[in-house]
Amino acid sequence: MIANYHTHTKRCGHAAGEDREYVEEAIKGGIKILGFADHAPFVYENGFVSGMRMKLSEIDGYFSSLVSLREEYKNDIKIYIGFESEYIPELVEAQDKLLSDYPLDYMIMGEHFSKPEDRCVHYNARPIDNAALTNYVDVVIEGMKSGRYKYLAHPDMPKVAEKDECFVREFTRLCEFMKENDLPVELNMLGYVAKRNYPCDEFMRIVAEVGTKMIIGCDAHSPDYLSDRSKHKAAKGYAESFGIRVMEKLPGLC
Ligand SMILES: [Zn+2]
Ligand SMILES: [Zn+2]
Repeated sequence: MIANYHTHTKRCGHAAGEDREYVEEAIKGGIKILGFADHAPFVYENGFVSGMRMKLSEIDGYFSSLVSLREEYKNDIKIYIGFESEYIPELVEAQDKLLSDYPLDYMIMGEHFSKPEDRCVHYNARPIDNAALTNYVDVVIEGMKSGRYKYLAHPDMPKVAEKDECFVREFTRLCEFMKENDLPVELNMLGYVAKRNYPCDEFMRIVAEVGTKMIIGCDAHSPDYLSDRSKHKAAKGYAESFGIRVMEKLPGLC
């Protein structure tokens, strides 16, 4: 694996290890381009504090730590500083403003929620119905159209009770949109290794049939995910078993 653009830090509250360990393990794993994309903060007007993303007070430290590691390790690895974020229409402008003063290189979309987090349930918490799946695809397409995000993380994260014709129709619509706009979808290595409901075979078949670009994201919540080449290889082999050749790097971030 040459590049990984999906790396978390302990600031999200559910990842382990120091920033430096992620960099050092990535180097050990042969990664040449390392993108940090921790769960992006949002500004909640009602003062809600999320349990799965950095606090507003931690943004400064996130950037200062990674900027200094980028300089320190520049001969061994290229570091980009990004965020993984939901696209939530009513919160997106305040988030843009919040992040506008930071040296942000990129964002990826990880749509864990389509509404403010204090008012809805995580997509992976319980099966959703057809209407909710259609809404998921609508919001993801709207968000990707905004041009903020380089790729779509764990596209098939929502738990779907029945992988029926609605599943095929909606994910085909999503994959066709991504293809037409030359945007990749992610093969989520964490989901694959941890045997979560994503990535699923049914979704992979759609990616292969439509010809959507795909890239592996480690979704590293612990540093060893970056050095464990057997995990990288297994994820790549899974894609290949569907005839999918994953892309190695993102244009503009190489
Ligand atoms: Zn996470
Ligand atoms: Zn995610």
